[in-house]
Amino acid sequence: MNRINVTQTFLPPFEEYEKILKRAWDKKWITNNGELVLELEEKLKAYLGVEHLLFTNNGTVVLQMALQALEIKGDVITTPFSYVATTNAILWEGSNPVFVDIDPVSFCIDPSKIEASITENTKAILATHVFGVPCDIEAISKIAEKHNLKVIYDGAHAFGCTYNDKSLLSYGDISTCSFHATKVFHTVEGGCIIASSKELYDKLKLYRSFGHYGDDYYSVGINGKNSEFHAAMGLAVLPHMDEILSKRMELWNQYQNLLAPLNLMFLSNHFLKNFNYGYFPCIFNSKVELETALRLLNDHNIFPRKYFYPSLNTLPFLKFKSTCPISENISQRILCLPLYPDLKSSEVEVICSIIKEAAQ
Ligand SMILES: *Cc1c(COP(=O)(O)O)cnc(C)c1O
Repeated sequence: MNRINVTQTFLPPFEEYEKILKRAWDKKWITNNGELVLELEEKLKAYLGVEHLLFTNNGTVVLQMALQALEIKGDVITTPFSYVATTNAILWEGSNPVFVDIDPVSFCIDPSKIEASITENTKAILATHVFGVPCDIEAISKIAEKHNLKVIYDGAHAFGCTYNDKSLLSYGDISTCSFHATKVFHTVEGGCIIASSKELYDKLKLYRSFGHYGDDYYSVGINGKNSEFHAAMGLAVLPHMDEILSKRMELWNQYQNLLAPLNLMFLSNHFLKNFNYGYFPCIFNSKVELETALRLLNDHNIFPRKYFYPSLNTLPFLKFKSTCPISENISQRILCLPLYPDLKSSEVEVICSIIKEAAQ
């Protein structure tokens, strides 16, 4: 069997990419807010229904820019169940991550446990919409208002998800997204940041270009720009979103139907409304059962990933150790199964039958 990875990047027909890229090529303008970057930003705003969006070079620098723009220095309440970039952005910006355990069903930060961790040093909440499942946005915003905290959402998985008829990326003071090649929508490398106000948007725009426009220097900044080559990929992928999402949904449902008889845990059906089917997480009953399944799958040249592992509160380079029993427990039992538009239905069948062997 051919190697099957957890994901495979969706690539549009090459001619479509080439045709778009040629516009920048002919002008010999390949980066620094060229016409393709500007066009992609407009199309993303329309697609997501948001006003203040900036296209950037990845989904990590935007977390750092968000912390800078909101002037966060101190303790940041965050989730232990996310990609390491979420925690590292806090550390890189000189703040301290304070881990609050997750809800065992949504895998997102458990708002009922947040208040117990708030002190006078707490400045913000940085939470992830894990696998595209929305955090408890109402509860988080209530807590934030009461304690005067800023809210940042790492929406790296949230492209194409909606919540209350609005893009899931439109909540919080700032939301970020990743357009990395492994994500549902991609620009090879890339990301975006969505601000809740014009004022924040202007600040972020300045940060993205080193803090200066031409010869006028206003503030510190970073290089958060992306190129015409990346924007061209985004412009070529965006018209295929319907097809990408419906293919993902089809395969997702096939996994769910085939694995339903097994005694495993999956994302609750409750979350599947307005969903992007970005990941198919499968929670085994034990670490041993997971390792058995992983070994069998690897033997068949199939490579799911342990997302998310390790639980971020256990990272070896953290100064302050804390425990998050639910996140630690789930991170040892969770595998994300291969899921991408070109995955074949027959391959899903093979994967499920191998898991069946392991889960008995
Ligand atoms: C992918 C991802 C990121 C980082 O995005 P990059 O574009 O790779 O920098 C951040 N947070 C989460 C939750 C992610 O999955």
